[in-house]
Formats: sequence, structure tokens, C-alpha cells
Amino acid sequence: METSRKPRNIKLHNEKLVIRILSGAESMPASEIAAKANLSITSVMKILVALQNAKAVKSIGKGCSTEEGGKRPELFAVNEEYLYSLGCLVDTAFLRITLMDFRHNVVDTAERSWDHPQNVEAALDALAGSIRKMVSDHGLTPENICGIAVGLNGIIDADKGILRHPVLDIPWGKNTPVGEMLHSRLHDFHHIRVDNTGRYLSYALLLTHPEYADKTVFSIFVGTHTVGCLLDKSEMQRGYNGFLGEVGHMTILPGYRGRRCSCGSYGCFESLVSDEAVADQAKEIGKDWPDDPLCKAYCAGEAHLPDLFKAANEGSEFALTVVRKVAGYFAQLIRNVLLSCDPQIIVINGVYGGAGEAFRNAVLDAVSDIAFFDIDTRTSLEFISSENVITKADIGAAFYALERYLRHTEEI
Ligand SMILES: [Zn+2]
Repeated sequence: METSRKPRNIKLHNEKLVIRILSGAESMPASEIAAKANLSITSVMKILVALQNAKAVKSIGKGCSTEEGGKRPELFAVNEEYLYSLGCLVDTAFLRITLMDFRHNVVDTAERSWDHPQNVEAALDALAGSIRKMVSDHGLTPENICGIAVGLNGIIDADKGILRHPVLDIPWGKNTPVGEMLHSRLHDFHHIRVDNTGRYLSYALLLTHPEYADKTVFSIFVGTHTVGCLLDKSEMQRGYNGFLGEVGHMTILPGYRGRRCSCGSYGCFESLVSDEAVADQAKEIGKDWPDDPLCKAYCAGEAHLPDLFKAANEGSEFALTVVRKVAGYFAQLIRNVLLSCDPQIIVINGVYGGAGEAFRNAVLDAVSDIAFFDIDTRTSLEFISSENVITKADIGAAFYALERYLRHTEEI
């Protein structure tokens, strides 16, 4: 955050603060904005006049409820068409772009499939072309876009826009200056950011759970890969090299040779808890339960994590044994996160977030056995299912681009 006390920066800071407060609600009277912004009503009214002149904010008439003195207050709302942002997800199998308006509504999403884009120049040409098409399809110009956030897989130096180390099999080489290469293709656009897909996915938590905005939260998404992000009062923390958050590659079982991780190592967290990895372990454990229907389904390649959680929640001993083993890996990961980041809240999202009581209890049991920590009274551990979070990194990226524009006064 810009700390300069220059009057111009204070004015910009307060204007953007008012927009941020308003964008979190349908509409609001000046008195409520003033209370939330810790500004006087007179100051807020002046800011609202300036923002209305700039067409960033609009008056939507009088509210129903009455303020002191019986007057119905004038309500203000962010003008959703004032500015837009773009969030892009570059994956090995597809490219997806989301256009978001100033009130966080997804206006449009476009997706094109591709297979492991081999050539970085050609891939970025395609990305730039898709961005321009999305903008022109909606009758917009680069001036209407306040930021573009591009998510890639791998270790990324976001401040320099450099893909340090592609983790997945996109062969773009190490230390590829993706940000600079995109700028040269999109020179008429402002504020292009490149970052790790997982960070954008985690940032989207603040869209569905704004109560985390002033907290230190470590978010973990587990799918085929595991991604994490430390959000410190809504600021993404990346570390010196961009490694912070790459918890999927924390070594949990160094001697495990059952499945090699995408990073080339063995025993990484993500290579133990993905759907496929759990199936391997279920088959191994299932040797003691050959007649269990879930075990049979696993052996036939027909069982997946939701089936495991359902059976565990219904009391299946076989399922509970598998769940407890996987919960032990989570407990080790949580211990590592606590020791390295020490957040207020750890959130487990996605398929494990919606696993239910059996998994949750198994993780809490396993964590309570870990030295030093009592997470019931200190760091809280929260589980959020896929239905209650945004699972598309391009939406998180578009939201991040908007928030970054509003949180940094030097960037207007
Ligand atoms: Zn790994």
C-alpha cells in the first residue's frame, strides 16, 4: 500500500476506499460509508460528488429506512460499467478468460482448448488475441480495463513477471519473462500481472468470504495438484523467490516411492492426497478388507474421493482407515504451515473442504497429536466445500486485478 502522505495520494486513497466499501454491498447511504471508512460524512459527501462526476459511483435514489430526523437517506452504488478487469488462466489443456465488471459481476468467460502449448511466443500471441477479442466483443477499449491478471502454473516472481520454474509440463523453459512478453503484445493495456494460478484461486476466497479480508489466512486447495496461498490482510504473500504457498511440494513422506510428484520429487503432499494417490493407498489398505464394497470399487477403478468420504461418514471401517491415513498427511502439512507461516486461520477448500465430519474429525485428531499446537484455541482450521467457494482461478484473477487497482493509490 502506498504510504506517501501527499494530498493527491490521500485523496486517491479515500476515493478508492469509498469504492471498495461500496463494491461490497448493493447500495449504501453516505453515513454508513463514513462509519466504515472512518471518515466524516462531509468528507464522504465530497468524495461521492467527485466519484459521481467521474461516473464511478451513482445515486440510486432514497432508501426505505429512515435516518435520525425521519429523512430517507440517499443511497449510492458503484457504477458497474465504470471499469472492468480481466482474469486469465493458462493451463496445459485450455486457456480461459473472464471479464469482470466494477461490481465483481462476471460479464463473460471465454475458453479455448489447447494441448500443452509448446511454444511460449505462440501461446502468448493466442492469449493476447483472446484478450483483445473479449474486450472488443463487449464494445470496450483498453482504457476501460483497469487491470489484467494472468495465472500460470509454476514458481513465479510476480513482481518481475517472470516464470521462474514451470512445474507442469508446459515446456517454456526456466526464467521466462512472461510479463514483459505480454506487455509487448498488449502495450496499450494497463497493469498486467502474472502470478501463480493457486494464488488467484485462493484470493477468490475474499469474494465469497469477505470476513477474511482483515485476517491472516492460509488457504489450501487440493485437486490433482495442491495450491496454497498466504493472504495477510488481503495482501498475497509470495516470499523472496515466489515459493511461499507451494505447499503441495512440501515433503511429507520422503521414502514414499508409490507416485512421483510433478516437480520430480518423491513424498510431496500433493502426490499423497490427490484422487489417484488416495486410490493407490486405498487398494493397498484394502488387502485387509477384500470384501468391502468400496474396496472392490477402488480395485475396479470406480471409486473416488467423494465415495470414500461418504462411506467414512456412514461408518465404514475400511473408509475410516483410509481417511485417517490421509488426514495424517494433512496434519503434517498443517504443522509445516503453522511453523512456516503461523496464520490466524487455515482454510481447506474444495473436495476435502466438503468431505464432512469423518475427515474433519480425523484431521482434528491427528493435529491434536502434534507437539506445540492446540488449533482449537489458537489458529482455527476451517473447511469450506466446493459449493461455497469459487473454484475458477480466472475469476479470482479478475477479482484480484480489480482489488489491486483499488488498493494501490500509485496505480490510478
Ligand atoms: Zn512436488
